[in-house]
Amino acid sequence: AVEADVEALQHADVAALLPVPGAESDKYRRGVVGVVAGSERYPGAAVLAVAGALRGGAGAVRYVGPGAGAVIARFPEALVHAGPPSEAGRVQAWVVGPGLGEDAAGALEDVLASDVPVLVDADGLRPLEPEMVRRRDAPTLLTPHAGEAAALLGVAREEVEAGRLVAVRELAALYGATVLLKGSTTLVAAGVTGTGTGFAGRPVRVNPTGTPWLATAGSGDVLSGLAGALLAAGLGAVDAGSVAAYVHGLAGRLAASGAGGAGGAGGGAPVGASDVADAVP
Ligand code: AMP
Ligand code: MG
Repeated sequence: AVEADVEALQHADVAALLPVPGAESDKYRRGVVGVVAGSERYPGAAVLAVAGALRGGAGAVRYVGPGAGAVIARFPEALVHAGPPSEAGRVQAWVVGPGLGEDAAGALEDVLASDVPVLVDADGLRPLEPEMVRRRDAPTLLTPHAGEAAALLGVAREEVEAGRLVAVRELAALYGATVLLKGSTTLVAAGVTGTGTGFAGRPVRVNPTGTPWLATAGSGDVLSGLAGALLAAGLGAVDAGSVAAYVHGLAGRLAASGAGGAGGAGGGAPVGASDVADAVP
């Protein structure tokens, strides 16, 4: 019975959820995304997460980390901050983790102490303990791929891959967070927010878009920024995650289709993560 408890994302539902600025919108109403990402070893992750947030419609993106030079070179519209995230200024949703490397714990705790939605991805997931998420009142969205999900659950990657639906529900229950499990299909399971525990029992959303061309370095960093923009715009964690996955999948197909090529699930040609970000709008 549990296995049947899924729902495929519908195009019309996703379209209706996309934030569109009203005539009186300003950048704050559209949403300020804080991005804590990148390191000396992985400077590009910062650029790609910022790209995802900007192309995802953020009113402003505030980058916090050591990669400000690279971020500004590509996106002069980004705001940058060199100190801890808690001192960065107004942020309506945080994205923490892409390319942070080994030193993610301090920034992660700082961001989780905020009272706004937080998306944790990649290296941000490594020091994460259930209690750090369970005590939060604001929504938390975790975006692991199978290997990261396995580490969070303390099981082998093969076990997650053999039972992805079970794994995403278990993670949501364990962390009391919304969990987006990436892969050839992406699953989104709702967690219970604010009560400290549990899987919300809602159907797991399955994303039908995408292309194997998305299996390329940095692709997940773009998704994180994109989902962060949707959180900052006011979407709940389940909607932000599932709309981001849907749009990211379409952007991958569009980028891979190039000028007139076939952009279906398996068609098209290779793309880089930057191309995917550029195709998001
Ligand atoms: P990451 O593993 O963090 O780099 O993220 C990879 C991104 O590409 C995620 O959004 C995955 O869902 C997507 N992806 C990876 N492999 C495939 C595939 N075979 N088909 C469709 N999407 C994929
Ligand atoms: Mg990743």
